[in-house]
Amino acid sequence: MIDLKVADLPAFTHTPIDSISATHARVVEKFGTHTTRPLAYRLKQLESFYWALKDAEPALLEACSLDLGKSAYEAYLTEVGWVLNDIVFMHKNLKRFMKDEKAEDTSWTNWAMNPIIRKDPLGAALIIGAYNFPIQLSLGPLVGAIAAGCTAVLKPSESAPNAARVMQRVVEESLDPEGYAVVQGAIPETTKLLDCKWDIIFYTGSANVGKIIAKRAAETLTPVVLELGGKNPAIITASADPRLAARRLLWAKLLNVGQVCVSQNYIMVDRSILPAFLKELKQAFKEFQPNGAEDNEDYGKVINERQWQRLRDMLDSTKGKILIGGKTNKETLFFEPTVVQVEDQHDPLLADESFGPLIPILPVDNLDEAIRTANAIHATPLGLYPFGTKAETDKILASTRSGGASVNDAFFHASIPTLSFGGVGDSGTGAYRGRASFEAFTHRRSITTTPGWVEGLLDVRYPPFGAKKLKK
Ligand code: NAD
Repeated sequence: MIDLKVADLPAFTHTPIDSISATHARVVEKFGTHTTRPLAYRLKQLESFYWALKDAEPALLEACSLDLGKSAYEAYLTEVGWVLNDIVFMHKNLKRFMKDEKAEDTSWTNWAMNPIIRKDPLGAALIIGAYNFPIQLSLGPLVGAIAAGCTAVLKPSESAPNAARVMQRVVEESLDPEGYAVVQGAIPETTKLLDCKWDIIFYTGSANVGKIIAKRAAETLTPVVLELGGKNPAIITASADPRLAARRLLWAKLLNVGQVCVSQNYIMVDRSILPAFLKELKQAFKEFQPNGAEDNEDYGKVINERQWQRLRDMLDSTKGKILIGGKTNKETLFFEPTVVQVEDQHDPLLADESFGPLIPILPVDNLDEAIRTANAIHATPLGLYPFGTKAETDKILASTRSGGASVNDAFFHASIPTLSFGGVGDSGTGAYRGRASFEAFTHRRSITTTPGWVEGLLDVRYPPFGAKKLKK
C-alpha cells in the first residue's frame, strides 16, 4: 500500500443500502463476543491502524488536495499528522485510562465494599464525519472508539469522496473486519444507518442535520455526541494589539479557506482601534499572500458548487462594504478571502455561519456593546476569541458562553491534542480529543463487591427496624 495513489483505488461508490443492516449486525455481534475489550486487542488495532495510515500518507495528502485543494503542508498538520499524533497519545496512555477508579471519600464501612468505577466500552458505535477536515473528523473519533473497546461503523462525508476512498482502504486493510467497517454514502445511506440500533452515535456536522440525528437517536434512547457549528465571535478591544489580532485572525480564515467550524464568523472591533486594525489586516494579507489568493498553492478551494453558491449569495446579500477581496470563480470554486465592513448586527453575513473565507467586521463603541452583541447573535457558539488586556478578556469570558475559547488568538485551544474539544448548548453535546476521546465511547460503570465478612455490619439495614435506633 506504500505507493498507493488515489487513482489506484476503486471509484467512490455508495454502499448498497441493502447491505447496511448486515454490516451493523456484524459489528454488534463482534462487540457481543467481548473480544474487543482486552487492552492487548485495542493496542493491536491502534498499532496496525497507525502503520496503515503512515503507509497511506501520500494518498491521504493527495486526497485532501483533490477534495479541498489543501496543500500537503496544511493537510499533514491538520489531518494526517493530527490523527497519527492522536493514536500515539492514546496508545501511550490507554492502560492508565482503562484502570478502575476508586470512589472518592468513602467511609470505612463503604470502603469494605470496594466501590469503583470501571471503564466499560459503550458498545457498537456509529461515527458520521463532516467534509472540511475529512480525515481528522472521521478518524479522530474512530481512534476514541477503538481505544474504548467499542466496535464501529464509520460514515465519512460524501462531499470529500477521495478522502473517503482512502480511509475505507486504510480501515479495511488494517482493522479487524468483524469489528470495524466503512459505509459510504449520503442521506439515504445515513438514514438507513440511523434505522439501526447503536450504542452511541458520534456526529460531526451542521446543527440542522444534528437535530435529525438527535431525534432518530432518541427513538432508541441512544446516546449521542454532537459536534456542531456556530457563529463564533472575535472581539478586539481598544487596548488590543492590532497587528497580532490581524495576523492571527486572518490566518484563521486562510486555513482550509475558512471552512473551519471554530473559525471566527465575525470580528467586532472597538471603533477607536478600527483604522489601525484594518491597516494591519491589509499588511497581513500582503505578507501571507504576496501574489494574492488565486493560483496560490497554499490556499485551497471551496468544497463544491453548492457551498460556493451559498457563500456567493451571502456576499451578494450583505449591506456592508467590501474592503478587501471579493473575487470569486465558480468554475474553479475559488473564493477570495473577503473583508466586509458591516454596520448592523442583523446583516446577512452575521445571521448565518459562513463556513468560508468571509471576514465581516462590525465596529462597536465599547466592550459592553461587544459582549451584548455576541450574546445576542449566538449565546452558545463553538468558539470565542477575545483580544485585549487580561482584565478585558477575563470580563469577556465571564460574561459569555462558548464551547471553547482562545484568548488573544484564533482557535488555538482546538489544536491542543490533550484539551477536550466540543460545543455547548446548540453548538454541540459531548466532547473528544485526548482522554476525552476515550471517555466519549466509555460507560463509567459503578461497581461494589460486598464480602461475606461484613454481614455483621450490614445487620443495620435488615428489618425489623423496631428495636434499632438511628445513629445521627
Ligand atoms: P453536514 O451536516 O451537511 O454533513 C455532515 C454529515 O451528515 C455527512 O456525513 C452527511 O452525509 C450527513 N448528512 C447530511 N444530511 C443528512 C441527513 N439529512 N440525514 C442524515 N445524515 C445527513 O455538515 P458538513 O456540511 O459536512 O459540515 C459543515 C458543518 O459542520 C458546519 O456547520 C460546521 O460548523 C460543522 N462542523 C462542526 C465541527 C465540530 O467539530 N464541532 C467540525 C466540522 C464541521
